[in-house]
Amino acid sequence: MEILVRFGSFIALFILMALWEMQRPRRPLTQPKVNHWRTNLALLLTDVLLLRFTLGAAALATAGYAQQHGWGLLNITAWPAWLELLLAWLLLDLALYLQHVLSHALPVFWRLHRVHHSDLDFDLTTGVRFHPLEILLSMLYKMAAVAALGAPPLAVLIFEVALNGASVFNHGNVYIPEKIDRWLRFLIVTPDMHRVHHSSVVNETNSNFGFSISLWDRLCGTYRAQPALGQLEFEIGLKEYRERLGWGALLLLPFRRRLGRYSLRRDAD
Ligand SMILES: [Zn+2]
Repeated sequence: MEILVRFGSFIALFILMALWEMQRPRRPLTQPKVNHWRTNLALLLTDVLLLRFTLGAAALATAGYAQQHGWGLLNITAWPAWLELLLAWLLLDLALYLQHVLSHALPVFWRLHRVHHSDLDFDLTTGVRFHPLEILLSMLYKMAAVAALGAPPLAVLIFEVALNGASVFNHGNVYIPEKIDRWLRFLIVTPDMHRVHHSSVVNETNSNFGFSISLWDRLCGTYRAQPALGQLEFEIGLKEYRERLGWGALLLLPFRRRLGRYSLRRDAD
């Protein structure tokens, strides 16, 4: 049942976004779509298989274990279930925001995370382009956050399903009228907002770290409304990798010498 909810919601949103991208793309792709999709989906398949045979639904299992053993902040309180669900979701989202900031700030994590940023285009498949080791580390981090919070299993399931959905949505190469986008991003991370994070300009890469809601970027001062060159003109990807990297090259990327720009320095580009 839990697999059905995860898989079904992901596939449904993926198809919806793919159709939307075909109808109203925001920017033209710089590479043949078939090559782009093949690489990113191969990476997704690698991640899914690796998780399947290793940690799987470990965050959810951790939540169940924490509940049984009274671990974590929310297991020592007796608040209404809806409040605990909401708090758990919000705090898990904050934890992931902080993890994303660290992925840019610490060289060892940036080595893994730059696989995601090395995409020369930005579409829904960019949202599933992650190095398998980053996925595994992320799961360990999530397990620790779930245990510390004592997040209820239902909150963890909702959080993970929403996070996967948000990643496909906010990487969408889709056009949303500016007026609607401006209103939407008061609450959620829209594709135009997250696209700024994929700019090759360091100051812009190091902004808009949020996945689901825009609150954390606004609170922590990492919010940036638009790229300096405008949504249609700015360069996507990393300055040091302007070539298209295939599946094998992406798996090896964290171990290559050219480290590139990992720092949170606000240098003028
Ligand atoms: Zn990032």
